[in-house]
Amino acid sequence: MRSLHRALRYVIPYWRWQVAALLCALLVTASEFVWPWMNKVLIDQVLWPGGGDAAHRVSALNLLVVVTVSAMIAGTLLGLARSYMFARVSERAAADLRRDLFRHVHALPMAFYDRRKTGGVMSVVQNDVEALQGLYAATLVEVLTNILMVFVASGLLIWRSPTLAAIGLPVPVAFAVALALFGRPLRNAGRRVRDDTGAVQEVLQESIAGVREVRIFGRAAAALARYMDRVMPLVSSRIRQAVMGTANGALARLIAMGGMTVVLSVGARMAIAGSMSAGDVVLFLTVLGMLFGPASAFVNLYAGIAVAMGAADRIFEFCDAPAEAQASAPTPLPPRDAAQDTPAVSFTDVGFRYDAEGPDVLCGINLEVRRGEVIALVGPSGSGKTTLVSLIPRLYDVTAGAVLVHGLDVRSLDLMDLRSRIAFVPQEPYLFGTTVAENIRFGKDGVSDDEVLGAARAANAHAFIEALPEGYATQVGERGTRLSVGQKQRIAIARAILRDPELLILDEATSAQDSESERLVQEAVARLMQGRTAFVIAHRLSTVHRADRIVVLDSGRITEIGRHEELVRSNGLYARLHSMQFGMARATSP
Ligand code: ADP
Ligand code: MG
Repeated sequence: MRSLHRALRYVIPYWRWQVAALLCALLVTASEFVWPWMNKVLIDQVLWPGGGDAAHRVSALNLLVVVTVSAMIAGTLLGLARSYMFARVSERAAADLRRDLFRHVHALPMAFYDRRKTGGVMSVVQNDVEALQGLYAATLVEVLTNILMVFVASGLLIWRSPTLAAIGLPVPVAFAVALALFGRPLRNAGRRVRDDTGAVQEVLQESIAGVREVRIFGRAAAALARYMDRVMPLVSSRIRQAVMGTANGALARLIAMGGMTVVLSVGARMAIAGSMSAGDVVLFLTVLGMLFGPASAFVNLYAGIAVAMGAADRIFEFCDAPAEAQASAPTPLPPRDAAQDTPAVSFTDVGFRYDAEGPDVLCGINLEVRRGEVIALVGPSGSGKTTLVSLIPRLYDVTAGAVLVHGLDVRSLDLMDLRSRIAFVPQEPYLFGTTVAENIRFGKDGVSDDEVLGAARAANAHAFIEALPEGYATQVGERGTRLSVGQKQRIAIARAILRDPELLILDEATSAQDSESERLVQEAVARLMQGRTAFVIAHRLSTVHRADRIVVLDSGRITEIGRHEELVRSNGLYARLHSMQFGMARATSP
């Protein structure tokens, strides 16, 4: 309930529109009564022979036509205005909500996304907001107009004939009860269909994503079997839903028709006996018929609110997930060129785990890095290299010890300030679905085309970009031109060059590249590292050689630190890794 209340707050800025829409809606409802009333007048004063002389009847008819046509035109115009204003309120409110959610998406800590599937977050921002939007648009006003409709209609019926009203009014109530009886089972059936559909989609999506594996291992038949295992339950749940839906409608309609027939025959008898005019009988039946709409609306209202409440709960649960911890009174970092004797980066007794209950991923890390020093991080896969460097821009917070930049705990710094000094080239960089130039410009806002070109040149990316179908304007990413890992890394290096970072973090691509591409990346990296403090997760011998110090990680601990020759001589993990990883087994064996 509280989240529903919070959700409705998004409508407040648009309350004037909402009120205007409400007025229009009420007038539209009122105009709907013109037609049944005109029917009555038509029968009693125009068609009925007792209505007066012919001239009088013709002039009554003319008036009738004028009134009906103008009411219909006014109703239509007001209806249009109402739809426009409702749409405006609900779309704007939903857009505001989406804006807040999107902002939150990028304020949440990385750890949030480790635990959640992307699909879940997307569904909150997209589907749940849409479900809630129904509430913004119509529900509230629908309730009010329907209540008005019920009051006016019942009043009119009781006024025209209390006896017939006593017989007629229970009919829409019985209709609503019949609908409500099926409500819960129908909703359950609907949920089953949604769940089963989700299960089918999951298998389909997986098997398309893994289409290469399916081919290579010849698993197409097994994949099909798995798919059909999920399709069959969907078939039966959809049949159940269809039958139930039809049965529901049929039963309610039967009750409505039966009730109306009783009212019709009683009303006709009253007209014959002369206690009611023929026009009143027709008016009665038409107005009674108008009550079935509100009756089913009230039944649906409950389900609509339940859906909106579920959506609102998920939306605000997401909103309430705490954002990245930001220092309340951040210490400014010293200016970049200020002379400093504190280390550029230091780790003091750093321990880290991803999950509070999980294993230690890093343990007792102590390391001081001078300004301008290049550190190569080496270690088996899963030893914690990527994790270690992620702590510097504070993608994660340490669970023990501290990470210091220029002697200041990163937790005391402004996140934007800290990150503005750093460029991170990940192992497999992500390219956005836009042009190559825009992807490079991602490194820094508002740089000129020349600067983009310069960065691409320095990153050894210019030549291959020029060779793309549309050069720098080529679309890349999801639906664009496919680039190799090496090419993506060179674009990421160009991004980093534009940033002109003080501190560089580079997670080298592990996937084997052709030697030409490898050489180009090497050159670009060397250029980028010039005069900067750098951490490089090294998979290439040339990077290791260029480093000032090599730090060897094993199961989250630093086991060796030193230069290449020293470490080879000491014959520890590095020597072993080195001989395996860099294919030097034969060269180093006697
Ligand atoms: P490396 O880069 O040296 O291969 P990582 O730093 O990626 O190693 O991983 C170190 C350990 O932390 C591994 O055991 C890995 O399974 C675990 N790990 C890495 N990322 C996450 C994460 N986002 N959530 C939970 N565990 C993780
Ligand atoms: Mg890694």
